[in-house]
Amino acid sequence: MTTPNRQPSHLFYQTRRRRPMLDQARGVYMWDVDGKRYLDGSSGAMVCNIGHSNERVLEAMRRQMVKSTFGYRLHFETEPAERLAAKTASLCPGGLNKVFFVSGGSEAVESAIKLARQWAIAVGEPQRYKVISRYPSYHGSSLGALALTGYAPMTAPFDPMMRAMPKIPAPRAYLDGLDPTKEGTGHHYANMLEERILQEGPETVLGFIVEPVGGASTGALVPPTGYMARIREICDRHGILLIHDEVMTGGGRTGRFWGAEHWGVAPDILVISKGFAAGYAPLGAMVAHDRVVEPVLDKGGFIHGYTYAGNPLACAAGLAVVEEIETQGLMANAERMGNELKRRLKGLMDRYDFIGDVRGSGLLLAFELVADRRTMAPLPKGLNAFDRLVELAYERGLIIYSRRTRGGLEGDHFLVCPPMIVEESHLDEIMAALTAALDEVAG
Ligand code: PMP
Repeated sequence: MTTPNRQPSHLFYQTRRRRPMLDQARGVYMWDVDGKRYLDGSSGAMVCNIGHSNERVLEAMRRQMVKSTFGYRLHFETEPAERLAAKTASLCPGGLNKVFFVSGGSEAVESAIKLARQWAIAVGEPQRYKVISRYPSYHGSSLGALALTGYAPMTAPFDPMMRAMPKIPAPRAYLDGLDPTKEGTGHHYANMLEERILQEGPETVLGFIVEPVGGASTGALVPPTGYMARIREICDRHGILLIHDEVMTGGGRTGRFWGAEHWGVAPDILVISKGFAAGYAPLGAMVAHDRVVEPVLDKGGFIHGYTYAGNPLACAAGLAVVEEIETQGLMANAERMGNELKRRLKGLMDRYDFIGDVRGSGLLLAFELVADRRTMAPLPKGLNAFDRLVELAYERGLIIYSRRTRGGLEGDHFLVCPPMIVEESHLDEIMAALTAALDEVAG
């Protein structure tokens, strides 16, 4: 990757590493100021699901922008927020119908935790405060969401500052040598939730949060057969709220609007963000069932809020994005192109023995590098395939997204998640760049 000779930056994010300066983006492509073109093979961070610079979305935003860009929620209702809330409720499983808008995934998760806790107090069970989550998992970077996150490098510095919540293992059948298509496998992992609830004391447990298809932390982990339904049963048995973190899966990327639709299971609360306004505006939502929201409102109100909640410009963008997903048949395309891309990625396993697994659903796909496919032992850390492969792909004009597989400590997986508008020719380009990059890693 070329790092242009630029002035020192006053911006900082995770590291000092500089990145090319983005100039423009359209469809599945992005260009830097030097004119180099990149295929956005990870839709940003699984955000830009409908591609860049969609004219219909931009037009909807322009129309809203000249009317009003902000109306504080305690002063005004706005039409875009009302319409998007109604649309979202109509799409939700299980009759979830109360929508609380936020500006991102962490805020949405934070809102879910705080609603759940206030529900417990309102229904006379104030001893419930633990939200069980999984390891590995990612639920956000604010301290509440981080307490649920199972990703050691991101949580470790803050351990003294938060009450880390109980974790159960994510159902990584491929690492444990179990068959994910067998119902017994799903039940085996789901039963770990019940064991943990009993160990914690069921009366202290408030909720369980789960990514229906795992995101960055597990690398597109699809739960084994029977897992999601059994989780629902266990939560019901113990009066525990089930929270689906659909921040990455919500919005059609897996081929259905909600990731959990694949298993026909409805949560009590769900959260959505990345693909909601698909990069056109910062937007997220927590959606809950009446039976959770009403007791809280009856007791005097939901103690929580963000200034930008329900921002009309963001909601206008979200509404246009959801309409685009529906009218352009993007979920069907995500399923079709996702199946084809997965087939091609699996084909790479014949060529490279260091690819240990290819997995995912729709266009939420990942492959994992290993030292030994039989034992699934991770690559030695010093090899740093993690950074190298991403850079080699970047040089070839392909953006992919990587994380460490085993709770952030070791293991290398790579998410390949192009926008839902991809066509076969884009898959050809992705595979050509990826194969060239993998050849170089292999060599
Ligand atoms: N939950 C999941 C499943 C996510 O993937 C993410 C972001 N990667 C978040 C929550 C947090 O979202 P944000 O970065 O928008 O705060």
